Amino acid sequence: MIVDVHAHLTDEQFDADRSEIAEGLKQNGVKWIITNGYDRKSCFLAVILAGWYKNIYAAVGMHPESAGDYDAVFEDNLKEYCANEKVLAIGEIGLDYHYDTNPPRKTQRETFVKQLILAEKLDKPVIVHSRDAAQDTFDILRDNMPSRGAVLHSFSQSEEMTKRYLELNVMFSFSGVVTFKNASNVKLSAGLIPPERILTETDCPYMAPEPFRGKRCCPAYAANTAAVLSEIKGIDYAEFCELTVANAERFFKVIPKEEKKKKGGRFWGV
Ligand SMILES: [Zn+2]
Repeated sequence: MIVDVHAHLTDEQFDADRSEIAEGLKQNGVKWIITNGYDRKSCFLAVILAGWYKNIYAAVGMHPESAGDYDAVFEDNLKEYCANEKVLAIGEIGLDYHYDTNPPRKTQRETFVKQLILAEKLDKPVIVHSRDAAQDTFDILRDNMPSRGAVLHSFSQSEEMTKRYLELNVMFSFSGVVTFKNASNVKLSAGLIPPERILTETDCPYMAPEPFRGKRCCPAYAANTAAVLSEIKGIDYAEFCELTVANAERFFKVIPKEEKKKKGGRFWGV
């Protein structure tokens, strides 16, 4: 079994078969997933989905591409969402300097910091998107890291940045990018990271790993990414999967249902 800590099951590309995918997770070797919101609507839908399926969790936050939309009302929404125990993190949040049409960098930085401060207040970790903004992302995270830490989603940074990030309270989450033939730099970065700090994700419907590159991605493909990572780390595949599931459950505080029952908590576990 594997986990997918970064899916977008609310995406319209899943409109035709979302329930099939959600119900089929276990049969397809996926223990649980986190579906990540990125704007008002997707956050709302992510929380709904997490309520419907016991092995789907949610993360909620304003993506940098919508950074200008962050306001007091949305912040209140985030607080309400985070009171739900199926909401595991604030995300995805971060910086994206790739397109000139994205919100101004200053707006992105302000929205990112606001959500990091909120995560600390709500005792949640964060899931971070960073594109063409390596230095600013690092600086902001270093100065505003929530106590619960951060996940660097679809990690694809240089060896030098990886070494610097190893000093911070972060987990490194790999998507299909690490399987691409032209991603030797990402493979080298992965080689530097201790196995107990590695997570698996898909970023589905995007970023399908080899041999599905270019097709619509789905949570089960996290297995293809895990296979490549286990090779890089020189760890047996099954052992590697077990390890990354344990990493994710420890980091996000996903409590297996037996333990929950013992504590008399509500049944939400996987
Ligand atoms: Zn994403």
